Amino acid sequence: MPPMSEAPDGDGKLLRLEGIEVVHGRGAASPFTALSIDRLEVAAGTSLGIAGPSGAGKSTLLHLVAGLLGPSAGAVYWDGRRIDVGDEGTRDRFRRDTIGFVFQDFHLVDELSVIENVLLPARFATWRADREMRARARGLVEVVGLIDPDRRAVDLSRGERQRVAVARALFGRPRLLIADEPTASLDAENGAAIAELLVTTARESEATLLVAAHDRTLLDRLDRVITLAGGRIVEEKTR
Ligand code: ADP
Repeated sequence: MPPMSEAPDGDGKLLRLEGIEVVHGRGAASPFTALSIDRLEVAAGTSLGIAGPSGAGKSTLLHLVAGLLGPSAGAVYWDGRRIDVGDEGTRDRFRRDTIGFVFQDFHLVDELSVIENVLLPARFATWRADREMRARARGLVEVVGLIDPDRRAVDLSRGERQRVAVARALFGRPRLLIADEPTASLDAENGAAIAELLVTTARESEATLLVAAHDRTLLDRLDRVITLAGGRIVEEKTR
């Protein structure tokens, strides 16, 4: 693979997708295009919602930006640098240093406590969490409204699990916060609390926020919303 390289023209947009195609089953009799985006740009510190029916390509778009899957064609730029190329280690480091990801199904380790789940990314990076890291994790647990940092994840409600996932995504002070349907499995009250948390923490930390959602209350709080259908952008609205 070629090394990460400079974009030919830095245009001040933090995130830029160009000529993107994500094709599943390439080489098979009927390959399937999950995503097809000519151009998408996101300015630093802004929030972008991704709406659209189930199967429209929302998760595919988020996973592409996070480097969890590569495009079949096209390029993804972050701060003028291509992030869809380079070896796996480089892409892993970029993800760890830049992105906080709130997965649709939380990805918590059931047997670990709340605080140990929040500290997981730090453990992957260094193996040992020092006192400062623990203090930061405890602070985040409080920020997201959880009372007991030592409770095991398995004993938490869905709303509480989602809060842990948000605290963990924020742990590395990400410049890009990505959330995949963060309120989908929550009741209205918990959903509103998580939406508030994502939007305000992103704003306060000047992070750029990408959120896939059906939830109109959440989407209405974001600066811009694109709607996907069949992997294509069919509508775009700026607040
Ligand atoms: P959304 O998040 O909007 O529900 P997805 O991005 O998960 O949509 O999926 C977009 C389309 O790509 C769907 O039709 C889905 O079935 C398909 N898809 C996703 N991942 C794969 C894969 N690994 N192999 C084949 N098809 C896939």
